[in-house]
Amino acid sequence: MRRLKFLFLFLIFVTTFLLIYSVLYPNIIIDNRIINLNEEYTPDLKIYNLFGDLTDMGKITGNVNTEKVGKYKINCQIKYLFFRISKDFVIEVIDSESPTITLHGSNPSLVCPNKIYEEEGYVANDNYDRDITDKVIITEIDNNIFYSVEDSSGNSTMVKRTIKYKDQESPSITLNGGDSISIYLGDKYTEFGYTATDNCDGDITSNVISTGYVDTHKIGSYTLTYEVSDSSGNKTIKVRNIHVKKKPTYYGNGVIYLTFDDGPSYLTKEVLDILHEENIKATFFVTNADENTKRAYELGHTIALHSYTHDYSYIYANSENYFDDLNKLANKVYSVIGIYPKIVRFPGGSSNTISRNFSSGIMSYLTKEVLKRGYVYFDWNIDANDAGSDVNNSTNIYYNVVNNLSHNKTNIVLMHDSSGHTATVSALRDIIKFGKEHGYSFKAITDDTPVVIHNVNN
Ligand code: ZN
Repeated sequence: MRRLKFLFLFLIFVTTFLLIYSVLYPNIIIDNRIINLNEEYTPDLKIYNLFGDLTDMGKITGNVNTEKVGKYKINCQIKYLFFRISKDFVIEVIDSESPTITLHGSNPSLVCPNKIYEEEGYVANDNYDRDITDKVIITEIDNNIFYSVEDSSGNSTMVKRTIKYKDQESPSITLNGGDSISIYLGDKYTEFGYTATDNCDGDITSNVISTGYVDTHKIGSYTLTYEVSDSSGNKTIKVRNIHVKKKPTYYGNGVIYLTFDDGPSYLTKEVLDILHEENIKATFFVTNADENTKRAYELGHTIALHSYTHDYSYIYANSENYFDDLNKLANKVYSVIGIYPKIVRFPGGSSNTISRNFSSGIMSYLTKEVLKRGYVYFDWNIDANDAGSDVNNSTNIYYNVVNNLSHNKTNIVLMHDSSGHTATVSALRDIIKFGKEHGYSFKAITDDTPVVIHNVNN
């Protein structure tokens, strides 16, 4: 009996103790234990028992590096009455942001039907792993290319590029000699030629169909049409206008035509400034084209062709060389001012004898051939001798010009604006002044200028 009573009291004691213990026991919790990379972190700590909030009594130790993915242990301790509690928590920093893939090139990408797609490139970046381009996996299904990548935390991204095997680009036709050509009544028209290229098919010149006719015995404008289609059916049409004109009459008009050969150079700018101040126009027989050429053209001066190489031994070796050189120059000029000049001057003049060293009779041939090809050539009848013995003598240059001017002729004055001809530039203003004071007008050579040509000597 006594034993039972003791046991009973003991049980009451234990129960009471457990009851008090559980009522007083501080519970420790942290709610936010998974956080995103780079988020600011403060543990959301709560300590409480049935009597109330004990959070202020808790002490947290341990660090969480939020800039690095991983698991971090922090510890919370509390001393309360007879309790000494220490509890560990695992805080996890995670990366939940997916990488990005940027595709270079176009999307959808147009590819010629007869070609295979060549990868245009891509870049994969991740907020945490940085450049992961080398982890990109490419799969091609039908006409789609899928680029997928996964970062070290398992976040993945996929982008798609669509390939369209289609040629939407029309071929291009280039007309040698340009789209507007003038020839003289009675001259023969010879086709200048053309090339056609296509982005997919390459050179399709042989597929060009040209139609139209030129009646060189009747003044008027004629249209030649050039048509070509690529293998995908894209069509391009170009037209060339041929103007059959009356030959200009060869008479003296008392006008001064200043012509500058062998430029452009750094001196061209000074020449242009003087011409601009004097408000007169001139003609530049160029060997190249640059911003000075463009300015000259825009100011209303005539841009004419001289020679691209100015190498006698090359251009006068045969007519192919001559026209290759001329076409190169014409294309260069076209790229700068947008027109193909039709006025030319032979290096050394049409009367030169130096060409005899390279090809007998070449000048006889070329002087006819340029006309057939729609050009007009000009020589000169006043030589400033600024490329000769008076190259550095501006006084002589001045007199070489003004002593030979006449109101009864077309005064075509040969000068040079290539480098080194500073004496020419020095003489220029006085030459213009003389001309103005003696009743001359100054003009640029045009289609209507009476032609001045030498006798051919080879
Ligand atoms: Zn020259």
